[in-house]
Amino acid sequence: MRVRFAPSPTGALHPGSARTVLFNYLFARREGGAFVLRIEDTDRARLGEGSLETILDGMRWLGLQWDEGPGVGGPHAPYFQSERLEIYRAEVDRLLAMGSAYPCFCSRERLDELRQQQQRQRRPTRYDRHCRGLTTEDVARRLSAGEAHVVRMDIPEGRTTVTDVVRGDLEFENSSQDDQVILKSDGFPTYHLAATVDDHLMEITHVIRGDEWLASSPKHVMLYRMLGWDPPRFLHMPLVLGPDKTKLSKRHGAAAVLEYRDLGYLPEAMINFLALLGWSPGTEQDFFTIDQLTRSFDITRVQVSPAVFDIARLDNLNGQHIRALSTQALASALRPYVRDLSDALLLAATPLIQERIQRLTEAGPLLRFLVHRPTEMPEDLVPRLKDAAETERLEQTIAVVQDVRQLFENEVIGPQLEPRMRSVAADRGWKPGDVFMVTRVALTGTRVTPPLLESAQLLGRAECLVRLDFGIGELICRRPGSKTG
Ligand code: GLU
Repeated sequence: MRVRFAPSPTGALHPGSARTVLFNYLFARREGGAFVLRIEDTDRARLGEGSLETILDGMRWLGLQWDEGPGVGGPHAPYFQSERLEIYRAEVDRLLAMGSAYPCFCSRERLDELRQQQQRQRRPTRYDRHCRGLTTEDVARRLSAGEAHVVRMDIPEGRTTVTDVVRGDLEFENSSQDDQVILKSDGFPTYHLAATVDDHLMEITHVIRGDEWLASSPKHVMLYRMLGWDPPRFLHMPLVLGPDKTKLSKRHGAAAVLEYRDLGYLPEAMINFLALLGWSPGTEQDFFTIDQLTRSFDITRVQVSPAVFDIARLDNLNGQHIRALSTQALASALRPYVRDLSDALLLAATPLIQERIQRLTEAGPLLRFLVHRPTEMPEDLVPRLKDAAETERLEQTIAVVQDVRQLFENEVIGPQLEPRMRSVAADRGWKPGDVFMVTRVALTGTRVTPPLLESAQLLGRAECLVRLDFGIGELICRRPGSKTG
């Protein structure tokens, strides 16, 4: 079994192409085959600056390492199509000699005119095979005069069968296909020829690629047959749609896979999510590690109907993968997202948030209080106590924070203090939740933090007392008639 991912370096690695990589990878791993990476860079006008690197970085981030290809080498090198031009030229010459292809000298103007005419007449736009009728002498004369030309494949009459692993045998009328250009006037092959030649020479057994190539597949099968080769089996993966059921695109959010890293997703969650885009294990299970996927990935279970990219599902899976990590592994994963904590503090704080976050980016705001003292207290520091006038509420709050301060001064701070906090509440006739909230706000300046007593423990006694004193001071300033500022 040999499969390949064959990106054109025209942009970043999008979620749809990342899924193509993943399915190829899983198939190769499961079947004990080779996963080849081939760069289809023959369309020189569309090459994107830095595109190759971002594609490779995206694959590396996901951990989908190729067995042959750029940086790795292999028996079929080179793996850049731009370095294989003579190989394609030789096959084109073979096709020309057999009469399966012909040179076409038509100018851009003539082709434009032809297309417009066909559009006006509401006919399918295609080449009218003008140059197919040229005499041998005519062709020879124009070639030796160095006239610019392309080479087109001569689509034979009849029907072509494409074997798709999921859809079965698909029959196409050859007349539905245009006389495809296979060699451009700049001497570069087009995708159709180069991919076919390479898939054969690189001994690819299964071509796994996006749905958008299904319509071209009969052309590829015809090229295989003309060149005297056996076509591989194909698998065309379903379209990926956005939540509004239109083709997934930039409009739907992050376009490049690496943007998902920046948004706080774990590569293992992304893999899990991509695997379920158009594939299902046939059970209710939705959490998969890459090893589990490798074991259960059955290519015949790839669906035909479009898959919907549901970010809520990705969030949910990311949360599950975050919880499945060891503390140490999660702390390392969080490292790039939580810049201002030391390694030791981050490691100590990690268990406090492991159950509470879905994205790694949520950790920074939640843990910020560990290294930033509150500089002011929110207005609503004083809880809305029932039946108490405003000044009364203020005085009660001061007393409660002072009680907590005393507790923190004299006891070991940690989760075991919870009953003592409840006693503070009971003694003052408060609800325990109000005591916790006032203490939380005084210690952190915010209402949303990891569990209070564990957070206080991490802050340490001295820091807790400084912050509680600051909170008490702020409350005192709010007494009627006290001078603020
Ligand atoms: N270079 C093509 C692309 O980027 C590859 C299509 C194929 O896998 O055959 O979409």
